[in-house]
Amino acid sequence: MEIIVSADASNYGIGARIAHKLPDGSVKPTSYASRSLTQTEFNYSQIEIEGLALIFAVTRFHRISVYTANRLQRWALTLLLYDFNIKYVSTDSFGYADVLSRLINTNVLSNEDYVIASIELEDTMEYIVKQSVEALPVTFKMIQSGTKSDAVLKQVKQFVQTAWPSSQSKIGNSQLQQFYQRRESLSIVADCLIYGNRLVIPAKFRDRALRLLHKGHPGVERMRSVARSYVYWPGIEEQISQCVRSCVECSRVAKTNSKTNLESWPSPKKPWQRIHADYAEPFNGNYYLIVVDAFSKWPEVVSTKRITTSATVAMFREIFARNGLPETLVTANGTQPSAATLASCI
Ligand SMILES: [Zn+2]
Repeated sequence: MEIIVSADASNYGIGARIAHKLPDGSVKPTSYASRSLTQTEFNYSQIEIEGLALIFAVTRFHRISVYTANRLQRWALTLLLYDFNIKYVSTDSFGYADVLSRLINTNVLSNEDYVIASIELEDTMEYIVKQSVEALPVTFKMIQSGTKSDAVLKQVKQFVQTAWPSSQSKIGNSQLQQFYQRRESLSIVADCLIYGNRLVIPAKFRDRALRLLHKGHPGVERMRSVARSYVYWPGIEEQISQCVRSCVECSRVAKTNSKTNLESWPSPKKPWQRIHADYAEPFNGNYYLIVVDAFSKWPEVVSTKRITTSATVAMFREIFARNGLPETLVTANGTQPSAATLASCI
């Protein structure tokens, strides 16, 4: 039997109804649900509130737990669990859920799976904001108050919370236009604007953020990739290129790098002829010695707490005892023992 789940959102609440469509075509509701928006959800954009209502409806009638990072992504994943069609029904012909959402008591917050997941989600988003701020020479409070006093960001927040103009041409400000193009990925967390997973930096802190990105003269690509993980503002990509172009040190580093010709290792003729070894970044307090055979790509991974010469030699001995001695062992520079030390041990 076809099941119809309806959802609707008003400015302060969401409502849902589940009904059966009987063989004779009539629709019989079996259950209703509603709740008011939480303080955080009041800040959701219009599209997010609509999405929230849909998710509330689906998960309310079928208790499931949902986790992942991004709000809309998480909802999309939840919906993928169902075989469904979505139909848009205009408010006029959608009386029941609309009435429901208007009849909601304030404080209808239960400890449903969904609500718990929602709180976890907010924590995740706040964590993203805080992480971005930690990487910057400014405090969280500075970004919050900076966002409040930034005329463009203030307007963007207002658009996110209410509605965007119907077309970009209705917006005069070029920065606002850039935000308009990204409107689907904008949200508000803890009074700050978020673009995807990136914190939107108020104008007065952009120079500071740029200086930080430029630290160590990492070059355009590296600066952009770090920016893409943490921060955003209109024109950031161009400002990064301009910053690098006007920096003597960056161009010197780029020239040195471009002179390095990469030469690949010759292909080995048989297994275990040449092996490559290196330590992987420590993870949960353990280092990992990774040895890969160049011919078969066979990996040997040994976890260790110590990466001293004697510990490394012991690990190689164990690997060689099982696989035999290679003709060539290639190691990166670092804490590994020198070839001479290794040779003397073997
Ligand atoms: Zn530079």
